[in-house]
Amino acid sequence: MEQLLEEVGVETEPRPAITVEGMEGKVAVVTGGSSGIGRAIAVALARHGTHIAFNFLDDGRGEARPEAEAVARLVESEGVDVYFRACDVGRPDEVRAFFAEVEEELGGIHILVNNAGIGRDRALWRMSDEEWESVLRTNLSGAFYCLREAAPRFRAQEFGKVVNLASVHGLTSEFGLANYSASKAGVISLTRNAAKELGASNVNVNAVAPGYIRTTRLTEGVPSEILDRARERSVLGRLGDPQDVAGVVTFLCSEAARHITGAVIPIDGGYLL
Ligand code: NDP
Repeated sequence: MEQLLEEVGVETEPRPAITVEGMEGKVAVVTGGSSGIGRAIAVALARHGTHIAFNFLDDGRGEARPEAEAVARLVESEGVDVYFRACDVGRPDEVRAFFAEVEEELGGIHILVNNAGIGRDRALWRMSDEEWESVLRTNLSGAFYCLREAAPRFRAQEFGKVVNLASVHGLTSEFGLANYSASKAGVISLTRNAAKELGASNVNVNAVAPGYIRTTRLTEGVPSEILDRARERSVLGRLGDPQDVAGVVTFLCSEAARHITGAVIPIDGGYLL
């Protein structure tokens, strides 16, 4: 009993070392880091001294490249290393090659943020095979392929942080989002399962579930009536910004969150309440 009390005494002492600063010198892979939420996450992690690798989707027209180069410059201006290139997360062979290159270029991988994602909204009775499959392949299979590459590395080094981008629409439903909602519900399930499988190797696996976040994809692609309704439903009365998501992701990648795993944290201004 005395020994137990002694141990409790030690365990409850404040630990000044646990801060978000514990991320310096680590290497993070942020998928889909060329725009929107991924860009904000890449820059936020870089600000905490984390080297950044990110990918984006080659649209075949070369239009995505300048956006990615601009993000790389922002990351580098924080004084960390950056590696980036086009790589489709929905293609396991490309993902495997990308992870190997990141490891070689940046000297290791410690953090994975599965952010790459798309939407192809349509009533389910009009939804094509392609609309269904491309969303599931990118959002769910893509997260799995990246996790599968990261897992052996994280297990071997007995350290790793994974944050998956889910969505409030993985927890609730909306007209026209059958493919997207199914993919994000799958991401939540994948998160919990991976947390169980990797916990023994000191790997934290969590998800964030953003509500409506002001990225160009959202403001250009979603009708203003839907955005107005989302703003009204949020108890904070506003849409989120990419930085709102980046802050929580940074926290989850830090040692301040070392005892959180398998969690799904809504970042939605109270939309789900
Ligand atoms: P954006 O469209 O702005 O960015 C998506 C990023 O993913 C881009 O870099 C894009 O590259 C990349 N990407 C898309 N498909 C692939 C692929 N197959 N392989 C590799 N990269 C790919 O989206 P957001 O920033 O708005 O969203 C980011 C994540 O957050 C997504 O998972 C989304 O579902 C989730 N989310 C967003 C919300 C919002 O309101 N914005 C709400 C809830 C969740 P490229 O530009 O070259 O196509």
